[in-house]
Amino acid sequence: SDHSVAVLVPGRIHPRVLERLKEDFEVVAVPMGPATEIDPGLRERIRGVAVSGLLDNSWVDALPNLQIVSNFGVGYDGIDTKKAVERGIIVTHTPDVLNDEVADTTIALLLNTVRRLPRAETYLREGRWKSEGPFPLTPLSLKGRTVGILGLGRIGLEIAKRLEPFKVRIGYHTRTRREGLDYTYYPSLKAMAQEVDTLISIVPGTAATHKIFTAEIFSALGPNGVFINVGRGTSVDEEALAAALRNKTIAAAGLDVFYDEPNVPPALLEFDNVSLLPHVASASVPTRNAMADLVVANLVGWFREKKVITPVPETPVRG
Ligand code: NDP
Repeated sequence: SDHSVAVLVPGRIHPRVLERLKEDFEVVAVPMGPATEIDPGLRERIRGVAVSGLLDNSWVDALPNLQIVSNFGVGYDGIDTKKAVERGIIVTHTPDVLNDEVADTTIALLLNTVRRLPRAETYLREGRWKSEGPFPLTPLSLKGRTVGILGLGRIGLEIAKRLEPFKVRIGYHTRTRREGLDYTYYPSLKAMAQEVDTLISIVPGTAATHKIFTAEIFSALGPNGVFINVGRGTSVDEEALAAALRNKTIAAAGLDVFYDEPNVPPALLEFDNVSLLPHVASASVPTRNAMADLVVANLVGWFREKKVITPVPETPVRG
């Protein structure tokens, strides 16, 4: 243990990260947001940051000896990696340990969306089964669907594997085609939307994926179309999505992520054919514990042996 190294934690993070960091480092917890005044001596000692998704660049500017930013979560769109690379700062994240949880949740969200299971449960709990009789039949079914996955990386592939026993047709679009897979490859999102009736998005939030789900994509998906998003809300033009649902351009949507979390557009709350989750795809105790341990292991590995376990691809050093 080397308590001469201080680790800054801006904003909320899983409590296990704080507990375990305290075993090895001096931990400096500060509020989320831009850099605040801190003692110059302490500022010099801060060589690591642990953060849950979002790091304000003013902290990177304020910390002259910063070497590593360890992110809780596989998506690191809230961290300016270009700036980190310029400063020679390593960024790490938590890939793989959450693949199964996120893929399981995606299948649950897909079923909840087509079969309206959360609404059926509410109906029972409100006593309506007894007073009004059976819950209305769902217009949609998963049976016989053709599913197109946008993003077939670590998580996308687990989603595809889980879909196989459901006997749906499976395809995907990524910029680089993956070899050795039996799934249909579509050369563009538009081409995929035209060919499938169910779209699942599991791409990162980047400049290239910003608002790629447009009115045009929803019309290509069509009136039997189901749109599921577990990647990032920034991929979606939410006004276009609400319009597509209102006009019955598509049939239903299931969303775990939103453009401006935790703000969910009120328009999306109005529809019976929309299933909504508050960004919980990886949110179980065991999976979040594994993510917390990996956040800590990257920092400990770096300060003990100059080795990180899971650097992001842009990072200046490899693990
Ligand atoms: P990977 O990096 O393993 O996979 C990303 C996939 O997306 C790759 O197949 C990549 O292929 C594809 N992709 C990236 N950019 C584009 C693009 N512009 N057009 C088409 N395809 C693209 O990431 P993971 O599977 O580990 O995670 C994916 C994302 O899921 C995370 O970045 C995060 O944002 C989100 N996520 C959400 C969670 C939640 O709680 N809802 C939990 C965990 C992750 P190629 O580069 O060839 O295009």
